[in-house]
Amino acid sequence: MATCIECNAEFDVDDAREAVNTEYDGDIDYDETTEGELCGDCSISRFDSEINVGRAIDMMNGDEDYDDEKYL
Ligand SMILES: [Zn+2]
Repeated sequence: MATCIECNAEFDVDDAREAVNTEYDGDIDYDETTEGELCGDCSISRFDSEINVGRAIDMMNGDEDYDDEKYL
């Protein structure tokens, strides 16, 4: 069992991974994004808030290029 860094609940990493895969159709890699430290519920609420601010696409593509040059 692992302990969630967000809500301190004990959770099974396999269950959390399964919950994320089911919720996002495998688009988000649970292990890569949470490093196994978040339970399923906390993972999903975190991903949902990141999707809301438009960061999920960067996260999924692994693309952190924000095109800084236009601000120079
Ligand atoms: Zn949690």
